Amino acid sequence: MSNTIFEKIDSLNPLLDIVALKKAANILKNDGLVAFPTETVYGLGANALKEEAVKKIYIAKGRPSDNPLIVHIAKKDDIYPLVDSVPKNALILMDKFWPGTLTIILKKSSIIPKTTSGGLDTVAIRMPKNNIALALIKECGFPLAAPSANTSTKPSPTLASHVYKDLNGKIDMIIDGGSCNFGIESTVVEVLDNKVTILRPGSITKEMLEKFVDNVVIDSSILSTNVNLLPKSPGMKYKHYAPLGDVFIINGNIDNIVSYILDSLKNDKINNIKSLVIASDETIDNYSSFDVLNIGSRKNIEIIAKNLFNTLRECDNLNMQKIYIESFSEEGVGLAVMNRLKKASDYKIIEV
Ligand code: AMP
Ligand code: MG
Repeated sequence: MSNTIFEKIDSLNPLLDIVALKKAANILKNDGLVAFPTETVYGLGANALKEEAVKKIYIAKGRPSDNPLIVHIAKKDDIYPLVDSVPKNALILMDKFWPGTLTIILKKSSIIPKTTSGGLDTVAIRMPKNNIALALIKECGFPLAAPSANTSTKPSPTLASHVYKDLNGKIDMIIDGGSCNFGIESTVVEVLDNKVTILRPGSITKEMLEKFVDNVVIDSSILSTNVNLLPKSPGMKYKHYAPLGDVFIINGNIDNIVSYILDSLKNDKINNIKSLVIASDETIDNYSSFDVLNIGSRKNIEIIAKNLFNTLRECDNLNMQKIYIESFSEEGVGLAVMNRLKKASDYKIIEV
């Protein structure tokens, strides 16, 4: 493939840019690939119901074929043709959290190709809360399979420029709709026989789900530090979110963390290794004589989540070989932040 079309669309009122929107929909109707913003991260869209279209997503991203895609719909009722049935708890969650950052996995119907579901007999579905995404799906008239619009293993894209860097020349079009509100992928829950299991943590937490449904369980692989425990969500077993440099998470009390990182940065300087620290508002002043990126205040984990992938990508722009990051509490959205960081670091966690 050669020229990737790049167009801006107004995120408040996408219909102001109806020409660009129709151009994107036409590409998708012809089984092409279009990257578009959602409130989580940028998605790489294709017709979820067409095997030929969906296959192109796996090729462009270099994504393993057993890693299923999330199917995006524009209104709640669009779920019915895609699934076998909708259990009561799924209905409750759709009602409370859609449109929004919750992906629900149910038994699939026969119109979902196995390529979309990564060979599984279940399908992941989400109704996003982003005007451009919703307008585009409506304009197409079919659901869009849309994994994160990055090269597999790289940090997910939260800006159109991230998509451009990874996929320019490999896809048909990129829609620039500004930065993603949440900046971290959706919470993925499986709802089978009314049992709700979190397969991937996100900005909707277990506590938020438990306000509306009973017996919410977190898949054991998310909480475990045993890297060999096979996750229930196929995508969670792959290398992910990783910059080129080695990422180290430093965990412990904050004074020990700072002094360990300072020692490491000093040693790296002596050994001519390019390294930096990803620090928070609260600790950044300690590192003034070294390369440092600020990820935000520890008092606002949502902002840290929003800055996370951009900060990891910035490490590549700076050609860093080693990246030290202070760990965060796993409470609330912290569980999702630490889940992404553990994967980015390939579980290199140093206790101090
Ligand atoms: P991405 O769209 O790149 O954020 O990845 C989608 C995530 O949802 C991956 O971790 C997938 O493994 C997971 N997922 C999608 N469909 C299913 C499914 N049917 N069963 C389990 N996990 C799924
Ligand atoms: Mg992804």
